[in-house]
Amino acid sequence: MDYFLDVVLPIPLERLFTYKITEQEAACIRPGMRVAVPFGKSKIYTALSHHIHTEAPEVYEAKEIYQILDENPLVTQHQLKHWQWMAQYYMCTLGEVVRSALPSAFLLESETLILSNPDANVNELELKDDEFLVYEALQHQSALRIGEISDIVDKKNVLARINGLVQKGIVSQKETLYEKYRPKLVRYVKLAPKFDDDDNLQVLLDNLGRAPKQSQVVLTLFQLRAKSKKPIPVSDLEKESKTSRAVIKSLIDKGVLEEYHIRTDRVQHGEASMESKDVELNVHQKTASLEIDQGFSQNKPVLLHGVTSSGKTEVYIKLIQKCLDEGRQALYLLPEIALTSQLINRLQTYFGHHVAVYHSKYSINERVEVWNNVLSCAEKAQIVIGARSAMFLPFSNLGLVVIDEEHESSFKQFDPAPRYHARDAAVVLANLHGAHTILGSATPSMESMENAKTGKYGYAVIDYRFGEVLMPEISLVDIKEASRKKRMKGHFSETLIDAIAEKLEEGEQVILFQNRRGFAPVVECTTCGHVAQCPNCDVSLTFHQQRNQLRCHYCGYHMALQQACLACGSPTLDKKGFGTEQVQEELGELFPQATVGRMDLDTTRGKFAYEKIISAFENQEMDILVGTQMVTKGLDFRNVGLVGIMNADSMLNFPDYRAHERSFQMLTQVAGRAGRTQKRGKVLIQTYNPYHQILQQVTTNDYEKMYQEQYYEREQFKYPPIVRIIKVTLKDKDFNKLNEASDWFASSLRNVLRHQVLGPEYPPIARIRKAYLKNILIKIPRDRSLSKTKNSIKRIEKSFNAISKYKSVRLVYNVDHI
Ligand code: ADP
Ligand code: ZN
Ligand code: ZN
Repeated sequence: MDYFLDVVLPIPLERLFTYKITEQEAACIRPGMRVAVPFGKSKIYTALSHHIHTEAPEVYEAKEIYQILDENPLVTQHQLKHWQWMAQYYMCTLGEVVRSALPSAFLLESETLILSNPDANVNELELKDDEFLVYEALQHQSALRIGEISDIVDKKNVLARINGLVQKGIVSQKETLYEKYRPKLVRYVKLAPKFDDDDNLQVLLDNLGRAPKQSQVVLTLFQLRAKSKKPIPVSDLEKESKTSRAVIKSLIDKGVLEEYHIRTDRVQHGEASMESKDVELNVHQKTASLEIDQGFSQNKPVLLHGVTSSGKTEVYIKLIQKCLDEGRQALYLLPEIALTSQLINRLQTYFGHHVAVYHSKYSINERVEVWNNVLSCAEKAQIVIGARSAMFLPFSNLGLVVIDEEHESSFKQFDPAPRYHARDAAVVLANLHGAHTILGSATPSMESMENAKTGKYGYAVIDYRFGEVLMPEISLVDIKEASRKKRMKGHFSETLIDAIAEKLEEGEQVILFQNRRGFAPVVECTTCGHVAQCPNCDVSLTFHQQRNQLRCHYCGYHMALQQACLACGSPTLDKKGFGTEQVQEELGELFPQATVGRMDLDTTRGKFAYEKIISAFENQEMDILVGTQMVTKGLDFRNVGLVGIMNADSMLNFPDYRAHERSFQMLTQVAGRAGRTQKRGKVLIQTYNPYHQILQQVTTNDYEKMYQEQYYEREQFKYPPIVRIIKVTLKDKDFNKLNEASDWFASSLRNVLRHQVLGPEYPPIARIRKAYLKNILIKIPRDRSLSKTKNSIKRIEKSFNAISKYKSVRLVYNVDHI
């Protein structure tokens, strides 16, 4: 009997591919093991075995595999099932999912670049013949493709050899290196608290009279404290007092001074009792935990809706503990790993070495290590924290999935395929494992809230900040009025300037938020703040310079740019938004003594740039931090007394049906950075439209009202969560061909799906890397079958692909596009 193996190739093939195997091979291959296979004229790939059968393929002659690469499956059945679901749901191929799921070290192929490892300690005598050939070749050439190595060794099956050499560290795979960031730990000193008492202090000063150098140190400390309220680094004290470390150390030993690190101490022995494992949940957290248990007992995912700083993380920690106690694995998903060193510290303090971190910026070797640890259910990887790619790990015994900040749109992968939403895919994953899912946010997405309201998800709520800390006091500043009365300096109202001055005076820090998202600016009237809206959709029109038009990205409505404001008739139309850089510049003039930092795309490009800015701000080396939405994400700064939003309108007017929901989320989140300790924080929002309903809802922290209103609008205009959206993007370098092709595609879709189809329409950036783009939106009502719709689309794609003149046109599907 002939045996055949169907494999998944890590490329965009619609189907599995069949290879011939021997009877012995059939006996040892199991699904999820890797095999090296030939493909095309001369390519070698690492493929994933799917299943064994005895039917020869009809249309091609099955080639033999080169080699089996694993002794045991590297990928579990759960994973294969999950990935198949992903491919089907997100309209891509299983191969594309496999390529993004497996660390690239597992997928060597003929094109992979291999380098020699200069640090390797190689005993040439111990190398096998062909290993030596590979090793030698790499001494003469800095890098070789695996295909080239295959020629040198004159063997097709070199992948196993190279895998072995990589494991031994003799050669390495080319990768962009990513090192871990170790924040610099500045040491600070303060006077021991008992000397806050005047009598004790007097005794101390009398005693120190006999030790002039020590006395000198203490006096200098007083001087420094009088000058500024910032923490005092040991190095500054040493320099200013003109003494030595030894003198300072003896004062510390005596208990006169105390030494501390801001960064780690906050986590380890901070204000709260974080150091102990027996953190006691407060009554609100306990109630929420009961609600969560109730949802879990009905096998539902649970949405935890807790205001900023309500102690959601502590609730997750208890759930994780319970999961570990049951001997199961836990997955903690975060929207962005760059910003989470704070959380990693916190979980490691609690769970120690059980915590592993996994994301695409880790080095290949680190990722392989975590993969193997998860696969073997090792103790070191019982809890995995990661960004979206962590859900691809080979869990076999998953008990809990935490999805933190579930409303964040960065959970959706935009490019390349699979264009999946990590939140939704993780819920499916948990289901496959019979694991519980907890989704947490202070500002839940409309989707998750709807699921909670319809009973599909359980719902738990915490309305109070932990430790009696008050919600920040949020006020709106009418800058239209302020401009009229000439009470503005640049983009700053007097109210904001006064508030900043006051906080700086009190030694507190300030965050200023300026959103400059979006490339196609809206045209705003600087007199009345009016922005032209689309009559058919609930979005602002965007300005397109080339054609001097205002356009709607959703329905294609357009009009010529007006010379004067449509609302007030004033000719003061402004196309340019202002950005963080300008805010920073103006601050320099308003507060010349303050240190101002900036966090946006431009300042966070470099290595560890994010982390450096965050730790500088934590260490109070900066007084004011100006930033884009990056500053809104889950950061926990202790000393921030004021958050200022420079202009809420640009966000509210962003041309997207989600603009209002997002504005609410962003403003609430950024406001949540203020006053996370005992003193009540303050938030000032500058706006032209203080009566805008979203701003009213933000100031009163009225999520429910926001939800109701937005839900109504989505119903009116048919947007998610009322409908599902599939976005089809067509790309081609030939402008006319693209237009023709997208018209063809859209009208074919319309024949079947009727008025569910919108467009084709140019996206805001209509040309990327020399290719023109056009989008078609398909809105699928909840009562229509999603899979039937997808089948219709696929059928149309087939006819489309058969038209030879459209051959060059690329099609991209984005299911649940957000
Ligand atoms: P959230 O995740 O909801 O923003 P956090 O979990 O960060 O809130 O909690 C805010 C602060 O309150 C943190 O400093 C945390 O250590 C502290 N905290 C929360 N719950 C407790 C508890 N039960 N006991 C002690 N401290 C707590
Ligand atoms: Zn106007
Ligand atoms: Zn429109």
